[in-house]
Amino acid sequence: MSTAQVFGYAIVGLGTQIVEVEATISNGLPQLDLVGISDRRSKQIRAKVRSAIVQSGYKMPDRRIIVNLAPSDIDKEHAGFDLPVALSILLASHQIDRSRFLNIHAIGDLSLTGWIKPAPGQALAVISSQGRGETLVVGDGVNWGALIDTPCLITATTLSDFKSDLRPKVEAAKVSPCSPARTTELIDDIKGQSAAKRALAIAALGRHHLLLSGPPGSGKTMLAKRLIGLLEPLNREQVIELNCIASLQGTNHFRLNLPRPFREVHHSTSAAALIGGGNPPKPGEITKAHHGILFLDELPEFSHQVLNQLRQPMESGTIEIHRAHHHLQYPAQFQLVAAMNPCPCGWLGSARPCSCLGDAISRYQRKVSGPIMDRIDLQVSVPAVKPEHLLEEFKKLPVTEPEGQTEHERLGSTLERARRFRDHRQSLDDRPLPQQLQSEALAFMTDAANRLQLSGRSIQKVVSIGRTIADLGLARHVTPQHLIEALSLRPN
Ligand SMILES: [Zn+2]
Repeated sequence: MSTAQVFGYAIVGLGTQIVEVEATISNGLPQLDLVGISDRRSKQIRAKVRSAIVQSGYKMPDRRIIVNLAPSDIDKEHAGFDLPVALSILLASHQIDRSRFLNIHAIGDLSLTGWIKPAPGQALAVISSQGRGETLVVGDGVNWGALIDTPCLITATTLSDFKSDLRPKVEAAKVSPCSPARTTELIDDIKGQSAAKRALAIAALGRHHLLLSGPPGSGKTMLAKRLIGLLEPLNREQVIELNCIASLQGTNHFRLNLPRPFREVHHSTSAAALIGGGNPPKPGEITKAHHGILFLDELPEFSHQVLNQLRQPMESGTIEIHRAHHHLQYPAQFQLVAAMNPCPCGWLGSARPCSCLGDAISRYQRKVSGPIMDRIDLQVSVPAVKPEHLLEEFKKLPVTEPEGQTEHERLGSTLERARRFRDHRQSLDDRPLPQQLQSEALAFMTDAANRLQLSGRSIQKVVSIGRTIADLGLARHVTPQHLIEALSLRPN
């Protein structure tokens, strides 16, 4: 009897769990059995491994082979076990050098001819192996060295590579600052709408959830898309995290200059596609929008069931997915931006007459449940721009600010200054926000909360928006004036 061990990775949420893959070859009828993995997955792996071993010039041992994947009670539905299974068999049958490859870690899909393809979640395995000193073998074609220190990483192209002297390529980690992707959607493209632009700046600085309400053609979608370009550039950890999420979807090219994601979701999207799940489990739209924007156009058209699924991740920034025997967690720190018409016909409050009858308007506005509305920090109305104003604005083109900056650049610098100010302020005082209010602001807030019968959540939100407004004006303390503007951004 001969045994050999290789380690593989189960993908659990946005993390990994090490799986021991042990092959035992003994006398008996030629047969390959996989233990500790679903029948469906076992069948696929057996077919691919057999073919890949033979096609790569090795011999499939004509004895009884059992490969055990332990622990048995974790989800192994992701691909990526082809390579460790094949390597364990080749090691147990002494067809590759045991002194160099025993107890190595591996993740990769195999083609029938023995090509090693990157497996979904491979980035997660590479990240989790960092600093542990384990030798990890992965499929080629990924520029890992560009982002992370990978001294023990071996990349292999085919299974036959293991006959030769396959050694880690020592790549010096080139940890360069992440340059943000240049945005092409500039705030200058939007004429007028100064109130909405102010709300956009507040939303960008405080990462507040935002609802834009206005008639068709008033520029709600354009405004939502321009928010991306106003957000802080991603830091290195966030770039790695987004690459890991992309890796789960099968993208295995590390990208340094990632923009923040903007995911536009249609109201026909199912709850499962929105929050994630399936077999093997995949991240949903809210995870794909992690560190970016989840845009829901025509908010009242979404079903209650779908919208209610957003409540928990909007609070916690993560989503728990419960499956038959275990549950997993994906990150979901998205900024919700929603758009809606003010009434079913769309023209309420605009120059065109509204044709909605009876209680149609209130029924329409009630379609978005209270708990969701309560969680949207800023609710802003975006009026239609009158044609004569629009023409006036166009005459002014090209828009150039006094200092030779575009409106977008000027707002960008204002936000950058405000972020630096906020970071410094937070380093001086890290008490919860309501405790930082000075007597005048506290008295104002108490009075407003009583008069307007604000919920606890609403009070928190108003104070937090007030704080963002103060930061935007580089003000050390929140004043009643800041709170008045914050209250005006939550009309409901
Ligand atoms: Zn109407």
